[in-house]
Amino acid sequence: MITRKEYKAAQLRSAHLIGQTGIFLRDDELRKISVADFGLSDLDKFGAQILTLVDTQMIAAKLIAMFPHQILPEHWHPKIGAYAGKEETLRVEWGELYFYQPGERTLSPKASIPGNKLDCFKNWHEMIMRPGDQVTLAPVTPHWFQAGSKGAVVWSISTKALDLQDEFTDPQIRRETFILENNNEQ
Ligand code: ZN
Repeated sequence: MITRKEYKAAQLRSAHLIGQTGIFLRDDELRKISVADFGLSDLDKFGAQILTLVDTQMIAAKLIAMFPHQILPEHWHPKIGAYAGKEETLRVEWGELYFYQPGERTLSPKASIPGNKLDCFKNWHEMIMRPGDQVTLAPVTPHWFQAGSKGAVVWSISTKALDLQDEFTDPQIRRETFILENNNEQ
């Protein structure tokens, strides 16, 4: 849960990060950045700010803005009925990203996770990604990432997105963001 004020502040901060990329975006697009706290109510540590540019029955293209050291928790895109699940390419546009997927465990990873959440991150094969680096994930492959010290802006280009049905290692996660309205603060 985050307050409306926090939500708006996160949108502004994300628009500023995305502005660093030089990618042209309209103001009305920037106002639609969606803020995900994954139900953990600790946005600076766990979250993602997502600007959806294409979202059809076939494909999706999104820009993900990550605050410094913010973590997008371990998740995968499940098979749903006849749909094999989302295949996703992540490409760093700006900043630095510590990315993790199944494979040999990296001994001294760059990412740092709060101790009480270590159980919720099972895959530690690291890729340090900088602008121009990209990785393609087959459906149902678990992955997670953390931004470096300046934050990061990352493309997510994929087959059909069904974000609310993503599955997470952390059982506390709720994908939908609950916004606490506060009428005293506009
Ligand atoms: Zn993903």
